[in-house]
Amino acid sequence: MTFVADCMLGRLAKWLRILGFDVLYFSKAEDKDLVDIAWREGRVLLTRDTGLIEKTAKRPNRLFVRSDDWEEQVAQILDEFGLWDEVRPNTRCIECNLPLKPVARERARNLVTPYVLEHASSFSICPGCDRVFWQGTHTGDMERKIERLLERRRKTITG
Ligand SMILES: [Zn+2]
Repeated sequence: MTFVADCMLGRLAKWLRILGFDVLYFSKAEDKDLVDIAWREGRVLLTRDTGLIEKTAKRPNRLFVRSDDWEEQVAQILDEFGLWDEVRPNTRCIECNLPLKPVARERARNLVTPYVLEHASSFSICPGCDRVFWQGTHTGDMERKIERLLERRRKTITG
């Protein structure tokens, strides 16, 4: 499942990418263009705009995002489309929306700090912007936020 997010949903788009989902996002775009892209590429249109929801009433693939809070927004998307099992953190570039390619530890040596090299469990690189990503240090702000997000699901199941 792939998405296109409206201009108000930059943070949601970024976080869905962090979790591994394919999300197109433009800081400026006409409603008409967003609808066209969603239709042409078979993407779900995510929007906070009730006007856009009314305008696209006859289209199947769109979702009104209820909350202003990005964590609530992510949880809503994962709940509505049953995507909790599809979460693959650090598999997609948060800037380019491209799938990352694995990098061997020996090659990562020249790309990350010694601390990261020692503690990370795996490395990957974006073919678009050459940004390096890694998993398994459990110290970063982003990793803590990912864990907090995934906690939500456990709460929903047990509660
Ligand atoms: Zn990139």
